[in-house]
Amino acid sequence: RDAVSAEADLDERALEGALRPRRLEDFVGQERVREQLSLVLRGAQRRGRAPDHVLLSGGPGLGKTTLAMIIAAELGAPLRISSGPAIERSGDLAAVLSTLQEGEVLFLDEIHRMARPAEEMLYVAMEDFRVDVMVGKGPGATAVPLDIAPFTMVGATTRAGLLQAPLRDRFGFTGHMDFYAAADLELILHRSAGLLGVEVDANAAAEIAGRSRGTPRIANRLLRRVRDYAEVHGDGRLTRETARSALTLFEVDGHGLDRLDRGVLEALCGKFRGGPVGLSTLAVAVGEEPETVEVVAEPFLVRSGLVARTPRGRVATPDAWAHLGLAPPPDAAF
Ligand code: ATP
Repeated sequence: RDAVSAEADLDERALEGALRPRRLEDFVGQERVREQLSLVLRGAQRRGRAPDHVLLSGGPGLGKTTLAMIIAAELGAPLRISSGPAIERSGDLAAVLSTLQEGEVLFLDEIHRMARPAEEMLYVAMEDFRVDVMVGKGPGATAVPLDIAPFTMVGATTRAGLLQAPLRDRFGFTGHMDFYAAADLELILHRSAGLLGVEVDANAAAEIAGRSRGTPRIANRLLRRVRDYAEVHGDGRLTRETARSALTLFEVDGHGLDRLDRGVLEALCGKFRGGPVGLSTLAVAVGEEPETVEVVAEPFLVRSGLVARTPRGRVATPDAWAHLGLAPPPDAAF
């Protein structure tokens, strides 16, 4: 990657950070999770104890990291951030756990991708606030127990089902984050526009919200692209027209489907006659990892009623054919 795009990535991440709500009351949508979490935090504060460990499950960009930061802020506790893939050996985890302060919130993103021995160490730590450090090697190795400060674990995963039961059971509370309603995305967009100092009218916000795949991260990203467009081609104000033109330019269609989503639909209908087709075959056809297709594209396609998951594989629905402007074959699987 060249330096310019690396810098652009950095800018995007910095902007994303600047748009994060800091308190639970500013967190838009996900009412159920917000209420449940508020209760868990208030209960812990009344008892003067660290709250139960929290697991947040949901697709990319739905606000898991944001909620972890809010949990720490609401508790007035420091926050440590790491992720499953960064923990390759149990020693990496021991190094983090043994330096936690009392009450600290430890956020582990993509917790399902942690190495198995580290996972075992983690659930002992979560339950007993203890780690067993191995001293020596081979048959003479011994486990030396080490007490660690009571902490609050916040785990995030795109699929709670991928967690081993012993680890999953150590979380006292699991919050399931779902796609956002368009009205919530509009609120988020108005708030973000205010923070970015851009004028967005209600029609433009509705247009962007409707094409954001139910995801705040995408809504904020599209807002920045529409802003760029409005600055270059207009007077900087965001209207429905600028939103439409900008999003067409960036290949986001009226349903919010992006290149990957459409690639999956086109492969499913074009190459596999609407399916059923297995995930890995489909992934090869669009040149992506199966996990990317499964976690990034598929949930929204299923939610939109364009793709159905069946025991025999993925199937295009009549709406998918209509969306692509194609006629389904007479023997289509639905
Ligand atoms: P990933 O797992 O891919 O890192 P995530 O679920 O942790 O994604 P976040 O990084 O928390 O997602 O959120 C992405 C962006 O969306 C942030 O910039 C944040 O400002 C915004 N955002 C997420 N949820 C909300 C919300 N409920 N209200 C306002 N903004 C939100």
